[in-house]
Amino acid sequence: MKPYRPSNKVPGTGWVWLLALSTLGGAVVGGVIAFVARWIYLLLIFPALMEFTSGGCTAIAVKKGKVRHPLVGVVFGALTGLITYGAFHGGEYFFTQQSFSKQIEAELGQEIDAAETNALMNAFLQEQTGSSGFLGYLKYSAKQGISIGRVGSSSDGLPLNETFTWIYWLIELAIIEAISLAMAKPAVEDPFCETCAQWYAEGQRIGTVTNDQSEIFLNTVQADQMVQAATHIQTRTVPTIPRLEVDLRKCPGCDQGEVALEVQRYSENKKGEGKRSQVLLGMLSHRQTLQLTEAIPAPPGPDNSESGTSQAG
Ligand SMILES: [Zn+2]
Repeated sequence: MKPYRPSNKVPGTGWVWLLALSTLGGAVVGGVIAFVARWIYLLLIFPALMEFTSGGCTAIAVKKGKVRHPLVGVVFGALTGLITYGAFHGGEYFFTQQSFSKQIEAELGQEIDAAETNALMNAFLQEQTGSSGFLGYLKYSAKQGISIGRVGSSSDGLPLNETFTWIYWLIELAIIEAISLAMAKPAVEDPFCETCAQWYAEGQRIGTVTNDQSEIFLNTVQADQMVQAATHIQTRTVPTIPRLEVDLRKCPGCDQGEVALEVQRYSENKKGEGKRSQVLLGMLSHRQTLQLTEAIPAPPGPDNSESGTSQAG
């Protein structure tokens, strides 16, 4: 089976979608979180919000803008993560500037020009950290350290020193980037019909494969032995978990194009929550599609118990 190859095309509207959603989405989410964080910073929840909006914005822009260039998708996924996290710290810097000038005004009992308070703050940051502006602010915040604690707990939590604060920020950024890319990449590598300029439709289930037959099934598909691969597929949903789910995906606009074969692994955690992950996505010719679908064995009779209960592990 040959892999799906994206056409590396980005229409003009695609660039507009990417630029608009990565900059606006990232700036809005980062800015709002910085605003709320003046009162409370929700550990894990706020970074998760930044991760999923960053990845979600890129994925939506890719879909709406019909972006079929993996490198462009990945670069914008990374860029959106960077903008989101930058907007969060930039927002905090902005709000700190605001409260700093209010403090100065309260102390002096008179209104002061914004340029003057900014100059005062910069002089302070320069003296404390050797840098002014945003960089000086980041360095100063790191020097103060942040504390990691449970939300709502009365204690101040675990304080982090300067080095660990930088490391903590880098980890936060790395996680945001990782999730953002993990969401952007599959969106941009999804099958697209170049004739109709449409994304392929959702998959139509042709059957499932038990876990103990999944390896041989995947191997035979990869080796283009579709008739043999089909013998491992069962039209009913096999009760064993994990299992493979086998779907065919077509262009909604035409019958001419190739058919995409998508195989996902369905598993459940201890709480019974299901999770699907793609294990295979490739293109089938018309002939291969027929071979595969026609060779799937008919479902067994009602009293025909499952044979071959082989021991796993
Ligand atoms: Zn089509």
